Amino acid sequence: MKAIKLTPTLYQYCLENSLCEPEVLRQLRLATEKMPEAQMQISPDQGQFMQFLIKVMNAKTVLEIGTYTGYSALSFALALPDDGKVVTCDRNLEWTKVAKNYWKLAGVENKIDLKLGQAIETLAQLKEQGCFFDFIFIDADKRSYNLYYEAALELLNNGGIIALDNVLQEGHVADPNNLDPTVVFIRELNKKIYQDKRVELTLLPISDGLTLVRKISRPL
Ligand code: SAM
Ligand code: CA
Repeated sequence: MKAIKLTPTLYQYCLENSLCEPEVLRQLRLATEKMPEAQMQISPDQGQFMQFLIKVMNAKTVLEIGTYTGYSALSFALALPDDGKVVTCDRNLEWTKVAKNYWKLAGVENKIDLKLGQAIETLAQLKEQGCFFDFIFIDADKRSYNLYYEAALELLNNGGIIALDNVLQEGHVADPNNLDPTVVFIRELNKKIYQDKRVELTLLPISDGLTLVRKISRPL
């Protein structure tokens, strides 16, 4: 076993020695923590990790499926260059109102395009419009992840990355006796992506598990 166990003390140490969360993100995180569904929000270290990725890959366009109160979308917008763009999909008016307030507070509301509605319909429209993205973050209803994954592959630029959140389902995916329908679904999807000849991947045990996928480029 090469991985160390991430105890709460060690996690705290990691945060204390790496987290550089901008004040506006911190405020949004704390405001969201008071809400009953707060566990849906990504962790600040995951946000910072994805910002790092976006900068390293010089991404200009980000697509997000699952906005909630806008923490990840705001992280992306802050990491993108001035002419960068985030398109983010959600169907919940109340939560995305909170998101919009904080995007405005951060001065990046012009970089974020919220698409309200069923995400799968938005993805079909984006495809019809010929849109492509450098980084795609999948973080909405888990039982639609396979549809989102397939749509994301079609919307991904060459050299782009798809990130799928919550692929470890609090560790339950590793317990074959756990037959919770969402856990079974994600377990099957993890297997499918691992065997998918169209992509290469890495599965990171960050937060609740984050799979990063790249399309394999074929010679012309
Ligand atoms: N990425 C967000 C963050 O960091 O704060 C968290 C997203 S939360 C886990 C999932 C979101 O997906 C919720 O806001 C929910 O309204 C949205 N959602 C769930 N099913 C959806 C669907 N079918 N179409 C659009 N949005 C959906
Ligand atoms: Ca998530």
